[in-house]
Amino acid sequence: MRVSTLVVLGLGAGVAALVWSFAPQTLPVDDEAVYPLLERAQVPPQMRVGVLHTGRMDSKAVFAYRGGGLEDRVFGMDVVVVEHPAGTLLFDAGFGRNVQAHAHTIPYLMRTLSSITPEVPVIEQLQRAHIAPEQLAGVVLTHAHWDHVSGLEDLRGVPVWVTQAELDFIRSGHPAARLARELGELDYRVYAFDGPPYAGFDASHDVFGDGTVVLVPAGGHTPGSVIAFVQAPQGRYALVGDLAWQREGIDRPAERPWLSRLLVDHDARAVRAALTHLHRLQQANPDLVILPAHDRRLMQTLPAAFTGAPAH
Ligand SMILES: [Zn+2]
Repeated sequence: MRVSTLVVLGLGAGVAALVWSFAPQTLPVDDEAVYPLLERAQVPPQMRVGVLHTGRMDSKAVFAYRGGGLEDRVFGMDVVVVEHPAGTLLFDAGFGRNVQAHAHTIPYLMRTLSSITPEVPVIEQLQRAHIAPEQLAGVVLTHAHWDHVSGLEDLRGVPVWVTQAELDFIRSGHPAARLARELGELDYRVYAFDGPPYAGFDASHDVFGDGTVVLVPAGGHTPGSVIAFVQAPQGRYALVGDLAWQREGIDRPAERPWLSRLLVDHDARAVRAALTHLHRLQQANPDLVILPAHDRRLMQTLPAAFTGAPAH
């Protein structure tokens, strides 16, 4: 066989493998695995959960989960705000004022696969609501990827809550945490998982000591990724960061296609385990609203933070 024929055959096999990697495939679910129902917290009646839309990327469902079609899908850059009598917490920081410059810290291929549209940065939404950044108890990072930390640049002085594993990741020199590193020394507050197992996760950290906001370790997408379980008068939520980009990742469950995993996931196996875990947790707790950070369809069901008005 001639070398050119071999090259053509090799290329053809490569293309076929790439196409196959997008084909529908659900993850095996262990039906025997039973996850305890989430304990109901004593929820202060004045507690609120809201959202700030800081930007969006327009992409395709096919990149978000195996079996996704070619239809357009909005990836929201959304910040969840929890107002609790003991303090107001932001979950992630979304796109900041300098998002266009920040986008240059990500790989070229990722930039070309998505189009970035800034909406209103957190700092401007705070100003409109006459809230000074110093009034915030902190920003809790689900993880330190660029699209979750861009807005931190405008919020200097606000405590940034991270796990030791995520702070180590930021400081490790890893390219996926480049923007977080380039933002320099922020007011990082490292918390420990000093509480008992929660919702089938190994350990927990109860932020306000009343069970309303409980953080659990869920490394995989990045080494120190977390999930935040929030209970409020409006309902019970799981903020799962980027374990899935869109709800189908948990509903089916289905992981990201190979190309997306390659670009963004630190440990694809751990992500798979977390997805099937969340799938079972949802079955055990039908009222739990699982919120992937970038699923705009779900995020826009939350009221607009600080105003209480519908977000759309
Ligand atoms: Zn991410």
